[in-house]
Amino acid sequence: MRSYGVIIIGAGASGLVAGICAARRGKSVLILEKQEKSGHKIYATGNGKCNLTNMDMDNLDEKYKVVLGDKDENLEFVSNVLNRFSNSDTIEFFKDLGILTYSRNGYVYPNSNQASSVVKLLLEEARSLKINIINSVRVSRVSIEVVGKREVFKVYSDSETYLSEKLCLACGGKASPVYGTEGDGYDFLKSFNHKLSQIYPGLCPLKIKEEKNILKGWSGTRFYGSICIDGKSEVGEFVLTDYGISGIPVFQMSLQCKELLSNKRIMGSLNFLGDLSVTEREICDFLLDEVKNCKEPLLCDASVLLCGFLNEKIIDAIFKKLGIRGIKVDMLNPDLIKQIVSLIFNYPLEIIDFHGFERAQVTCGGAVLSEINCENMSSKIVDNLYVIGELLDVTGICGGYNLQWAFSTGYLAGCNM
Ligand SMILES: Cc1cc2nc3c(=O)[nH]c(=O)nc-3n(C[C@H](O)[C@H](O)[C@H](O)COP(=O)(O)OP(=O)(O)OC[C@H]3O[C@@H](n4cnc5c(N)ncnc54)[C@H](O)[C@@H]3O)c2cc1C
Repeated sequence: MRSYGVIIIGAGASGLVAGICAARRGKSVLILEKQEKSGHKIYATGNGKCNLTNMDMDNLDEKYKVVLGDKDENLEFVSNVLNRFSNSDTIEFFKDLGILTYSRNGYVYPNSNQASSVVKLLLEEARSLKINIINSVRVSRVSIEVVGKREVFKVYSDSETYLSEKLCLACGGKASPVYGTEGDGYDFLKSFNHKLSQIYPGLCPLKIKEEKNILKGWSGTRFYGSICIDGKSEVGEFVLTDYGISGIPVFQMSLQCKELLSNKRIMGSLNFLGDLSVTEREICDFLLDEVKNCKEPLLCDASVLLCGFLNEKIIDAIFKKLGIRGIKVDMLNPDLIKQIVSLIFNYPLEIIDFHGFERAQVTCGGAVLSEINCENMSSKIVDNLYVIGELLDVTGICGGYNLQWAFSTGYLAGCNM
């Protein structure tokens, strides 16, 4: 049984950075990865372009959420970590590996626009540092045992046992399990008596209560608009689906929907005209004019008046909702026009659930921060144990904040193990 200075479970974003930093400091590093490929999830990030970090780190409380505990203390933890290894440190770190980056609206990407280049150069650095990465090995159990006179970690797979002085849990959460993240890390944490806050899917589509024929009809439709829940709004590109709503603004909003966990329903609304700077009044007046100018109101379909500025499937959904599908222009009286316009700007949403871990980009919740040292990610419960990345109770919004968190925590652990 070979013994290592450091064993890292998970060759994802945080594990690879931690391994590189530890090996640069002379540690013998073994990374165990259950997937055939290392960095499997990184390939999928930023739609295959890998949104590494973000230039905007102001107002961290809006960028990062923690589920449990004292909000100020947790925020201090997050800001301590990000001050020690910041977005510019990430950019420098990758520049050292040979990755040049650019930023668009603050979102930072590799200049290649290929997430694969990030994985390739991380793995090349790992190879040159002689880090031993073993793929297709699922760690099933971890323990601390006395071997000789020393306490060591024993890391078990189905066929092997590995020994190390230090153990780093970099197994990610439960989001998008197709990339290997099935929540194993939570069992390891529990076996070391670490407390976990409630975990649930984050940055994910949302299920809504809506008539089946409306959901079926609008499924696949994209539009640029906004969503509003509880006075908070998000603007961007949406996708309407056969279970509800998806797209980046919905992902961002999903982080505000924790109440769904206690079976509460959340009310909100969609504005289908988010990119037009027009008011309800202006659209009403526009339609009243169109009705007046219509040459054949008895023959002309009412939907024709709206299809110049609204997707036809959305018009269909609004007409279904009002029970006026197939009506002609002559039926469009001012009151009905007002009702139609009201639905264009404030389409009611009853959100009933998250669309699940399968479609989530991150996991909310995880190892509670009060049991971790923010300067090096070491456990306060078990000596020589480190916890990094998405396993911790920190969730970033879309925009590179989650990878930044993985890199920052990976760097701090790697330099200190
Ligand atoms: C589709 C998608 C797009 C995303 N896009 C972005 C983006 O553009 N920007 C951004 O900031 N964030 C993005 N994220 C989130 C980001 O990818 C994660 O937050 C980040 O990868 C977490 O890093 P991690 O190291 O904690 O875990 P991961 O990168 O998930 O790595 C964990 C690794 O541990 C391995 N593992 C787990 N259990 C075991 C076990 N028992 N034995 C051995 N190995 C194990 C897994 O196979 C996995 O490879 C995206 C996520 C998804 C799903």
